[in-house]
Amino acid sequence: MRAPDFIVVGGGLLGLLTARALAREGARVALYDKGEPGREASWAGGGILAPLHPWRCPPRLWRLVVRSRGLYPRLAEELREETGIDPEWTPSGLLVLDPEPEEAERALAWAREHGEELRPVEGAELRELEPGLGPGHVHGLWLPWVAQIRNPRLLKALLRSLHRLGVEIRAGEPVVALALEGGRVTGVRTPQGLRPAGAVIVTAGAWTPLIRPLEDLPIRPVRGQMLLLRARPGALRRILLQGDRYLVPRRDGRVLAGSTVEEAGYDKSTDPGAAEALRAFAAGLVPALAGAPLERHWAGLRPRAEGGEPFIGPHPGLRSLYLCAGHFRTGVASGLGSADALVEQLAAATA
Ligand SMILES: Cc1cc2nc3c(=O)[nH]c(=O)nc-3n(C[C@H](O)[C@H](O)[C@H](O)COP(=O)(O)OP(=O)(O)OC[C@H]3O[C@@H](n4cnc5c(N)ncnc54)[C@H](O)[C@@H]3O)c2cc1C
Repeated sequence: MRAPDFIVVGGGLLGLLTARALAREGARVALYDKGEPGREASWAGGGILAPLHPWRCPPRLWRLVVRSRGLYPRLAEELREETGIDPEWTPSGLLVLDPEPEEAERALAWAREHGEELRPVEGAELRELEPGLGPGHVHGLWLPWVAQIRNPRLLKALLRSLHRLGVEIRAGEPVVALALEGGRVTGVRTPQGLRPAGAVIVTAGAWTPLIRPLEDLPIRPVRGQMLLLRARPGALRRILLQGDRYLVPRRDGRVLAGSTVEEAGYDKSTDPGAAEALRAFAAGLVPALAGAPLERHWAGLRPRAEGGEPFIGPHPGLRSLYLCAGHFRTGVASGLGSADALVEQLAAATA
């Protein structure tokens, strides 16, 4: 059988988006995942389509968020039509609660400089934006443009789209090493043998440095625990952020409460202490959530790149190797723009 033009290593959001964009341009693509595609960080995340504190976002990453922001509504619509799965792109808006004065100043200055809508709200206006809010919260910042996507559904829809596009999906086949000839990558090595390809794109998230010879790539796992509460639809309307914890209301009334930020290596276990803290956080913001049944508690591993910016583009030392990894807490928000930028670079390199 002819070797594919591209092997994509890792079926998280970055891998699925990249594979889809390449396949839509007519390339032959094979995607390898060590387990089931779409079940790691991209599944575990909250689906907020903005950095939690946009004013702290490095400029290059912010540009990818803006690029993604412009593309998500169309992608969601396309996938809904193509696959019957609605990823529920929803412009909920984000309310940042109780920011410190310096933080609010910094946010407002950033918004002025970038021409982004962001303004202080308090009193009746705050309650009108979020009627479920508890009495202790009197001021906030309002970012109406922040949307969310139901990430597990987005992944499911993308996978279905890849099947339709004829992408070869090799689930449960981990890539242990890159195949090298001189300084060029000629394919990948899995426990099943050598798999040749025209070029290889590594989108293996937090596990990227476990693939030989990428051990020196400075990406490490950072665990995040999350709760899913079952509330009645409308109990919460907006995405709420306080400090670096948040609540995300889904359309069916479910509410995500997240998340912890823990250095725990590749350990994805959860602990009752974190569940208790997240539950108390949720009830502290929205009292109606105090009695909401806990439906699920899980953890995911965010890929944190040293320096705060993901690696996107050709590998500096190995030819025919491309990277798209290290998106830490902003991989959904910046993922679509990242994949788009990478595929643009690939097209330029092969033109
Ligand atoms: C709790 C939590 C909340 C989050 N909330 C948000 C949010 O609201 N907004 C946002 O923008 N971001 C959020 N994030 C971050 C976001 O989820 C990540 O940045 C993003 O999902 C990373 O995508 P990825 O495709 O790089 O990695 P992953 O989704 O982890 O995918 C990597 C894939 O590679 C596969 N793989 C790994 N090694 C190999 C190998 N050797 N061979 C084959 N396959 C391999 C894995 O099995 C996996 O399927 C959150 C993350 C967590 C954990």
